Amino acid sequence: MAKTARKQIIFHFSFFTFHFLSYLCARKDIVRMSVRVQDVIDALEDFAPLPLQESYDNAGLQVGLTETEVSGVLLCLDVTEGVIGEAVELGCNMIVSHHPLIFHGLKHLTDADAVQRCVRMALQNDIAIYSAHTNLDAAVDGVNYMMAERLGLVDVVLLQPRQVAVSFGTKTRSVQAGAGVIGYLPEGEDSLAFLQRVKQAFGVECLMHNELLSRPIQSVAICGGAGDFLLDEALRAQADAFLTGEMHYHQYFGHDGQIQIGVLGHYQSEQYTMDIFNQVIGERCPRLPLFKTTLCTNPIKYL
Ligand SMILES: [Zn+2]
Repeated sequence: MAKTARKQIIFHFSFFTFHFLSYLCARKDIVRMSVRVQDVIDALEDFAPLPLQESYDNAGLQVGLTETEVSGVLLCLDVTEGVIGEAVELGCNMIVSHHPLIFHGLKHLTDADAVQRCVRMALQNDIAIYSAHTNLDAAVDGVNYMMAERLGLVDVVLLQPRQVAVSFGTKTRSVQAGAGVIGYLPEGEDSLAFLQRVKQAFGVECLMHNELLSRPIQSVAICGGAGDFLLDEALRAQADAFLTGEMHYHQYFGHDGQIQIGVLGHYQSEQYTMDIFNQVIGERCPRLPLFKTTLCTNPIKYL
């Protein structure tokens, strides 16, 4: 065969192959328009792998089947009957929450308590429930990073870092994770002005704090939710301020002039976790309808 003829055949073959592969890619895209519960889980667990969760926790799929096609996802901090009702109204058959619905285990499925009623309601309405809890707290760019970002902190790093072995398919990788973060304000800020800014940034009704610190605040340690266990770590890191969601009365003693403690409330400190879900799922499944709950699920009311 002449060289030019052979070249032409190769050219036509390459041309055909290129367009056939492009067509297949397009078809794959069409197929991928349907999102399964497992696809949402994969997006969340690539960001915050389940092995990052604490031993006492129960993060992961709470209710539902992995192969179900997802019509829409409602994002929330806590799963309540009201939130499930909202999902039904919005046509969402999946709920992603920060706090696990099932935490202590279930022995019955009656209407005896709110958890059982929620599970029954989810099953009756074919709604899957997935929770990313302490694995999301521990993940880089997780709950505490989101809090730091809202306060404009820079150079944010984990306060108590650790490495966790995580399996991805057949491979195991060491993943950086940890409790709390520490970051820096670009410029020192007066302690009262800082606490007032925290109060406003997180919509806090009643911010609890110890004696105002006389030196300016620059380094800030953060642990959302029940993060009081990190106070000592924040002191060791010589943070000017420590922000968390909950703290016991006696823990406030002995730190005046040492560190500025600010306690926001558990719900208030973690409420923007929904934004992380929105971003992580939205990037992987751009056509999937995502909604943040409009309900305030904070069980604590303020007079
Ligand atoms: Zn929490």
